Amino acid sequence: MDIHRKLDLLGRAAGFDVCAPPGGPPDLRPYISYVQPPGGGKKPVLKVLQTSFCERNCRYCAFRAGRDVERAAFTPDELAAAFDQMQRSGLVQGLFLSSGIAGSVRTMDRMIATVELVRERYGYTGYVHLKILPDAEEAQIEQAVRLADRVSVNLEAPNPERLALLAPRKDFAQGLMGPLRRAAAAIARGQGLWTKLGLTTQFVVGAAGESDRELLATTQRLYDELHLARAYFSAFSPVPDTPLEDQPPVHPARQHRLYQSDFLMRYYGFRLDDFVFDAQGNLALNEDPKIAWAEAHPEYFPVEVNRAGQSALLRVPGIGPVSARRILEARRQGVLRSLGDLRRLGVIVARAAPYVLLNGQRPPLQMSLF
Ligand code: SF4
Repeated sequence: MDIHRKLDLLGRAAGFDVCAPPGGPPDLRPYISYVQPPGGGKKPVLKVLQTSFCERNCRYCAFRAGRDVERAAFTPDELAAAFDQMQRSGLVQGLFLSSGIAGSVRTMDRMIATVELVRERYGYTGYVHLKILPDAEEAQIEQAVRLADRVSVNLEAPNPERLALLAPRKDFAQGLMGPLRRAAAAIARGQGLWTKLGLTTQFVVGAAGESDRELLATTQRLYDELHLARAYFSAFSPVPDTPLEDQPPVHPARQHRLYQSDFLMRYYGFRLDDFVFDAQGNLALNEDPKIAWAEAHPEYFPVEVNRAGQSALLRVPGIGPVSARRILEARRQGVLRSLGDLRRLGVIVARAAPYVLLNGQRPPLQMSLF
């Protein structure tokens, strides 16, 4: 099979986001995804699988063992050379390498060999995200941490019970949490020459009947214990000819609410108990989780923006980390008296007005909003 056919199969395969998170002659654009680096902006990356052969049977996956699908595999030389060509021609500014599992250790060796060639033979110093496969060995994890800007281990489900419904041949504690913990430890020991961006994971949302509370509880634990850089949530969508083909797709709003909640945990100081869940443990699809918290805590409001500390400001709908910081700075220059003052500092005043006092006064907009 020639290299372009492989790129076609394995670049498109990565778009299924199987073991991956959230994409010259012939047209290479289908294999390019965009990632958002911490500083903002968007970076085009080659998102690709080392191989789409897989011995596992995850029940939602297009590449599960036994499913009739055309498969291919790159050698490390082929993939490193193809990436080098793409990045030199300016098509991509990074590599996101994942894979099906044709022997965990063997496949991980090939992925590492690919990135070693990219770094050493081709002298590439840019962005590399390397997926660590389930059951990867300690030395492989350490080498992955040495080579990549970001490493990740996909948990897929929030706990062993849910994982058993999704991926019967994966072991939550040993196969997934084990590598995640070892990668976190290697990063903490400072073994990452490149791993500036840390460790991530991904969940498949809604395929195993799990609740948002379960997903966010595990996410919070990963932030607390492993200093995870971030979690990704991927709404389940059924694939024909898989055991879950008749299960309905998950509403995209659920994925969006989980991302908002994750953001609140990372940047606003929210904890699991702050979120408002329904009787099934799920977030409301039609309400922003920060507004849901504010409405459940009338005793907290109104907040006087001229006196409140940063954490109190961050609880106000419409005020984010940047506008909270600007409010604190602006207060040193004088009293904030109007919604116009807040708007100039980046506050979304239509949201914030019902929840704030300005120099002891309720903003006039507040009454009309009520
Ligand atoms: S390990 Fe599971 S999710 Fe990954 S490619 Fe194989 S079947 Fe798909």
